[in-house]
Amino acid sequence: LELQIQHNERLAMIGQMAAGAAHEIRNPITSVRGFVQLLRRTLQQHEMNKEVGYTDIMLSEIDRITDLINEFLLLSKPREMKVVSCGLNDIIENVKPVISSESLLHDVEVTYELQVNALIRVDRDLLKQVFLNITRNAIEAMANDKGKLHISSTIFEKERMVAINFKDSGPGIPAYMVDKIFDPFFTTKDTGTGLGLPVCQRIVSELGGKIKVVSKGYGTTFSVYLPIEAIEG
Ligand code: ADP
Ligand code: MG
Repeated sequence: LELQIQHNERLAMIGQMAAGAAHEIRNPITSVRGFVQLLRRTLQQHEMNKEVGYTDIMLSEIDRITDLINEFLLLSKPREMKVVSCGLNDIIENVKPVISSESLLHDVEVTYELQVNALIRVDRDLLKQVFLNITRNAIEAMANDKGKLHISSTIFEKERMVAINFKDSGPGIPAYMVDKIFDPFFTTKDTGTGLGLPVCQRIVSELGGKIKVVSKGYGTTFSVYLPIEAIEG
């Protein structure tokens, strides 16, 4: 038991150090990004198109590092939740523009089927992030095959829960993999961080909910279950 405690303390310390290091990396990265942008402008003025292309790659790689660090920090040091009562449909209405721009870009057709507005107690920004992470995964899974994403809500009155379902027409998740997708750093993508779903799971469980995944060979449905306060209308 004592060994186990020592081990856990060490892990916690390593986690803290990693979070500190991640935080410290953000400032120099921001400064590097600024100078690469300046360099890009100069190269553009000299019509050095090939080199402008190099700086574009640098910028997108820098953005990947920033995304990775932000997700990592969210996972290791979750920020205070700002929980307020809000309508689920209003939150979804709010993320629609972001979802449409990303789906348009990847030729994915998104449809919505929302039930009456349920009042939920959540941190709006964090819940939006959950919806966007799940949507992004769906879109990425369907890249270049004209996918379909159906976003719906189901109210369970007796249980006082609402489910927000994200059903995609992608390739699905193999059964042996379903247990792993919530593990930090688990990814099947060349440029993935593997932090999207663990972050979602953490946020949703802190809101008293849970995420369920159903994938049977073809297509995947992620459902976010959240407790409801009241039902409107
Ligand atoms: P990342 O997107 O960076 O890979 P995530 O934690 O968001 O990390 O997702 C982990 C893995 O779960 C993905 O790499 C992918 O293999 C799988 N996955 C998630 N959503 C879907 C989906 N809708 N369809 C198929 N696979 C998915
Ligand atoms: Mg992801």
